Amino acid sequence: CGIVGYVGHRSALDVVLDGLRRMEYRGYDSAGVAVLDGEGGLTVERKAGRLANLEAQLDVVGRESFGGTAGMGHTRWATHGAPVDRNSHPHRDSTGRVAVVHNGIIENFIALRTELEGFGVEMTSDTDSETAAHLVARAYADGETAGDLTASVRAVVRRLEGAFTLVVTHADVPDQVVAARRSSPLVVGVGEGEHFVASDVSAFIEHTRQAVELGQDQIVVITAGGYEVTDFHGEPATAKPFTVDWDL
Ligand code: GLU
Repeated sequence: CGIVGYVGHRSALDVVLDGLRRMEYRGYDSAGVAVLDGEGGLTVERKAGRLANLEAQLDVVGRESFGGTAGMGHTRWATHGAPVDRNSHPHRDSTGRVAVVHNGIIENFIALRTELEGFGVEMTSDTDSETAAHLVARAYADGETAGDLTASVRAVVRRLEGAFTLVVTHADVPDQVVAARRSSPLVVGVGEGEHFVASDVSAFIEHTRQAVELGQDQIVVITAGGYEVTDFHGEPATAKPFTVDWDL
């Protein structure tokens, strides 16, 4: 129900948890975070129930294992799969190197799941969202989009039916967060040496009021230094800049 992604110079965990807290009013049944440590590590924690449950869990595993300045978070409103830990986002591929968070519904997920199972992929959740993690991992590993995370996400979202905001990270690319949208909101927050993606400006409003609203079927890749918007076919696309001049 709420999504936030961050690349910058602060603790991604702190920024992401703050963002999730500011979107709590929207309602949710589970929450989770992923942080890239910048050295090839990707750490994920997720928990059914209130954000406070996730935070308690983070204290148990130790927040020091979530050092890093790039990451993302999610609050879930379950549509496919019960609101339990293993269905909470982020979802990962089988290697644990790719993580995705998703708002919305992937209508054709059963066909995609069947295809993936045909390749020997084992699903670890009952969600529609998990298929996207496996598909991105496969697109990144092999074929014409190999080694290019944005191109891999593009290839995958072209295959998804339904409404989605999807945010993707790959441990191999610790300085980027890639996000895509179709019929579901996605906004970029433009800061000084830091960038945000979110389903709602309230997620980053305390850090920047410079925002960019993505259009239908657009993808953005954010880094600490900038952002780049393209359409689902890789053509440069223009998204609408605006200033958040209201108080939340
Ligand atoms: N369809 C996904 C799920 O059930 C995402 C739901 C949401 O928008 O939070 O896990």
